Amino acid sequence: MSYFSSLPAGRLGLSPTRLATELRNSPDELRRWDCEHVWHPFTPMQAWCQEDAPIIECGEGFELIDVDGRRYLDGISSLWCNVHGHRVPEIDAAVHAQLDRVAHSTLLGLANVPSIELARRLVELAPPGLTKVFYSDSGATAVEAALKIACQYHAQANPDSPRRTLFACLSGAYHGDTLGGVSVGRIDAFHRAFEPLLFETVRVPSPVTLRTPPGHDSDSYLRFCDRELERVLVEHRERLAAFVIEPLVQGAAGILVHPPGWLARVRELTAAHGVLLIADEVAVGFGRTGTMFACDEERVVPDLLCLAKGLSGGYLPLAATLATDRVFEAFLGEPAAGRTFFHGHTYTGNPLACAAAVASLELFAKNRVLDNVRANAEIIRRELAVLGDHPHVAEVRQRGIMVGIELVRDRPTLEPFSPDRRAGHRVALAARRRGVIIRPLGDVVVLMPAPAMPGKLVERLCRVAVESIAEVCRELD
Ligand SMILES: *Cc1c(COP(=O)(O)O)cnc(C)c1O
Repeated sequence: MSYFSSLPAGRLGLSPTRLATELRNSPDELRRWDCEHVWHPFTPMQAWCQEDAPIIECGEGFELIDVDGRRYLDGISSLWCNVHGHRVPEIDAAVHAQLDRVAHSTLLGLANVPSIELARRLVELAPPGLTKVFYSDSGATAVEAALKIACQYHAQANPDSPRRTLFACLSGAYHGDTLGGVSVGRIDAFHRAFEPLLFETVRVPSPVTLRTPPGHDSDSYLRFCDRELERVLVEHRERLAAFVIEPLVQGAAGILVHPPGWLARVRELTAAHGVLLIADEVAVGFGRTGTMFACDEERVVPDLLCLAKGLSGGYLPLAATLATDRVFEAFLGEPAAGRTFFHGHTYTGNPLACAAAVASLELFAKNRVLDNVRANAEIIRRELAVLGDHPHVAEVRQRGIMVGIELVRDRPTLEPFSPDRRAGHRVALAARRRGVIIRPLGDVVVLMPAPAMPGKLVERLCRVAVESIAEVCRELD
């Protein structure tokens, strides 16, 4: 008997004929082939096949449904990108309509309608002065483009000054997995293997105070970080091309939340020393911190703004690097002068992805998504308050609807669980048994509801996270 004929009719709210055309292979075959052929990202592959991870067949609202018909609340926005849920009628219709025109044509030598309309919308929404949109297709490529633009900008804007080719970044930074992004990233477990391939950077300590070095309390450590920021910028002021930062929240480092004013301070000092500011809003952009862009919260205008993840509503791979007129103008000149930005990707400005993005941006206004984010941030705060004195929770970090719950073996000393206990991973498995998908960063349990998720579902996500943490901590005690 085939898989789909065994399903109860109407299980997914899809017509039986649609299902019948969608799934040609049985769940068991798919599981076997996944194990045999698919190399999953950021995944210890030796353990993978034993984990029996759900194979997602479709989505509905804020849930994902696997080939066995089990439903899961998507508690991480499909890795931080989904905005309005899955199979959103307005975005589906926009993509269908574009599909009836053309799926792809190039931006090299041609323009296309959705990429123009999207650029116009992005410039209206972005911090003032960011007027140029350079498209690519992932967060990493958006950052890569920004780094190369910054490098070439200085060479062409100030040809008589010493060459600025050095980049500054924060400890624990994550800017994607291409080599430029890895060079300005600082997560040891991810980046160690590639050290010999990376270009030189200078690092400023991240202004977070859970574990301060000996001799510091929180206040003195934040003052130290501020002095280090200034010292690095002054010391390298003639060589620095740009400072790269994840504004307000460092996501992949474990949802590290910066103190208010830090971003504005970085902007003030970079401007004072002629250093470009690259704001990587790949994770924080599109509402996650409570404003459309994190830079808005401190009225900061970066020189370059990197967008991806939520840009297309979480539908299709799409990224953009926005630049100011000042940056852009350094690339102007007679074609033969060689001031062109020689960089691009085949699928740059893909019309389907841009059409999805335009539709997603329209829904932000129509559905008052930013109001929803702010209401949900309160729900999360209320629901997770019970973890405030949990013996295995070092800290609950939250900014808007980005949440990191750091688990430790011993709260007073902050001693971590031994990595082979896989505490964070176990919490994710416990949540999955309760019908919720979450994915930890090490022993930091991350909750990342979609900006448009209804409050009731956010409440459920939080409750399942609290229960799952309790279950795993009992096992590990
Ligand atoms: C996810 C992420 C990236 C990389 O985006 P990809 O689309 O995975 O290449 C870059 N920067 C930040 C801050 C991110 O969170």
